[in-house]
Amino acid sequence: MPTVPERGEALPALRFALLEWYQQQGRDLPWRHTRDPYAIWVSEIMLQQTQVGTVIPYYRRWLAAFPTIADLAATDLEAVLKLWQGLGYYARARHLHRAAQQIMANHGGQFPRTYEAVVALPGIGRSTAGAILSAAFNQPRPILDGNVKRVLARLYGLPIPPQQAEAQLWQWSAQLLCPQSPRDFNQALMDLGATLCTPRQPLCHACPWQSHCIAHHHRLTHEIPRRMSRSPLPHKEIGVGVIWNAAGQILIDRRPPRGLLGGLWEFPGGKIEPNETVQECIRREIREELGIEIAVGEHLIDIDHAYTHFRVTLHVYYCRHVSGTPQPLACEAIRWVTPEELAQFPFPKANTAIIEAIRTRGRPTP
Ligand code: SF4
Repeated sequence: MPTVPERGEALPALRFALLEWYQQQGRDLPWRHTRDPYAIWVSEIMLQQTQVGTVIPYYRRWLAAFPTIADLAATDLEAVLKLWQGLGYYARARHLHRAAQQIMANHGGQFPRTYEAVVALPGIGRSTAGAILSAAFNQPRPILDGNVKRVLARLYGLPIPPQQAEAQLWQWSAQLLCPQSPRDFNQALMDLGATLCTPRQPLCHACPWQSHCIAHHHRLTHEIPRRMSRSPLPHKEIGVGVIWNAAGQILIDRRPPRGLLGGLWEFPGGKIEPNETVQECIRREIREELGIEIAVGEHLIDIDHAYTHFRVTLHVYYCRHVSGTPQPLACEAIRWVTPEELAQFPFPKANTAIIEAIRTRGRPTP
């Protein structure tokens, strides 16, 4: 039977084993070569919903484009979103931008060093604040991201889903944290979750915590963390118009700055109402949102895309502008652009397949 890790006497052994493993097996990541809180903050935000391998080139490009908080704060949001394009969850980029402006206004351009000030910035929760403060300033702040929850749930044999045991998990993370080496300890914990204690088939034989781990001891690693029963994601059907004018330009609009995909450009359209055809939906949406009349023409593409809380299917049609001057009635801005100019604007991921389809199909048949 493993030593119950909660007992005080096991803590030094757990810390020592993890730190020793990290010395030998820790990953060499670009943000581990700096103590600059700004660079570490950027990496932590990018890593929130994205794998390390995808993050690295974005992280490098970001720091080359915006080397300091002042550079980021002074940049137009659209340029920031363009650089983020492809990483998804664009609220992260908007929060970074807004937080940089707040740091300029309230902290003299210096990334704050207190937990209260850091967690007050947009887009930074308790775990991200802990990760930044421990990595940049070696402060003893616990972390609890998805990987860490899985490791702790297994180590302690948590019998319920982690979502129902947040307070307990925070307590374990704080209790385990090495007070002498919080920076290395948190980085090591992240590495353990990412490389050994993986969701499926954890590599327990190589794990520094194997002899303490309750899930491993009871052969429960495939059952812990326990899962919540999930209801299926709601599904929305959306009609989308690629509206061409006589000059061979396409109409795009920019979403309002807040909310889902805020500040990004898109092709206009909206939700298909019950008993409405896709064509009727597109005509109605364009009339309501832009105040113009169009003719719906050939089908271009259907795209399925899943967001965190719902799925969408986009039914995309080529349309022809018939009458009226477009107005931004339900969006922030509108613009007629050539197909070649589309690449200059930040679009949500689901829309990049539309742009590719336009490139392949070309202009509508007359
Ligand atoms: S022994 Fe296995 S299940 Fe337990 S913490 Fe290590 S890798 Fe995870």
